[in-house]
Amino acid sequence: MSPSDTSTGDWTRNPEELGAKYFGSPPAPVCVDFGALSHPGKVRANNEDHYAVVRRRRSREVLLTNLPAASLPPLREDAYTLTVADGMGGHACGEVASMMALHLSWELTGSAFKWHFKLTAEEAAELTEQFRVYGQVIHRKLQELGQAESRLAGMGTTLTAVLTAGLDALVAHVGDSRAYLFRAGALEQLTRDHTLHQQLVDRGALPSVASATGFMRSVLTNCLGGTYPDVKVETYPLRLADGDRLLLCTDGLTDMLSAEEISGVLAHHSDPQVACGALVDRALDHGGKDNVTVVLARYVAAPPLPEPGRP
Ligand code: CA
Repeated sequence: MSPSDTSTGDWTRNPEELGAKYFGSPPAPVCVDFGALSHPGKVRANNEDHYAVVRRRRSREVLLTNLPAASLPPLREDAYTLTVADGMGGHACGEVASMMALHLSWELTGSAFKWHFKLTAEEAAELTEQFRVYGQVIHRKLQELGQAESRLAGMGTTLTAVLTAGLDALVAHVGDSRAYLFRAGALEQLTRDHTLHQQLVDRGALPSVASATGFMRSVLTNCLGGTYPDVKVETYPLRLADGDRLLLCTDGLTDMLSAEEISGVLAHHSDPQVACGALVDRALDHGGKDNVTVVLARYVAAPPLPEPGRP
């Protein structure tokens, strides 16, 4: 080993690469507006969907110093997590499963050694691994609860989440809830349904998801809890742009509205909460056959924080 070799690599030969690994530049400042709504629909007595929009923050400010104030400017960085979960199981246990999945996510991420405020390639890889571990833990916990209490037997849930830091995002997905990107008037589905129907489409045995109906559409091939021995958490990195909107929703929306209809509502309503209300109203107008849940976030590039002493 040469004298310049260290456990973290050759600092003298790759100072910029290592500097980027440990420091990097701050994420692009953004203003984010949110909306969210969940409705039991017109047919079901209870609501098995749950959602959460969470902000994490790190900040730094000088309390005492004799340096000029401008030399130690304050720092504040926010990261957001949007999540929807659609529970399933007999009686009211679907409700318990989706609630438990969000509750366990809260506890697990709260006790993590590290919270991510930047999503460089390395951070995204680390977070992807974390999401997989969270998925495994939640999967096992739901199955344990189902085995311990007969009324909860077989309970399971979908879970679709997006973590955003600045304009970088990472989608984590299990089941048939969906995440969409609405950019410049176009709606793009970011997630793939983990259903029997999608599996047959992938194998070329069926023409498209649009033709999905009934049984195959509703049979999940991957979920948290339930009866499958394992769970697979799919992740998708994403770079947002100024004006982008992220929509997360349960199948109570996508079974009632076509992508064109969703796109039309988003194009018509820029305010996220108003758009959520309009999407749910439309799902109810079309029959509201299932619980319907929507979470919407709009990202607008923002100027950096003002320097101390300035408004
Ligand atoms: Ca549902």
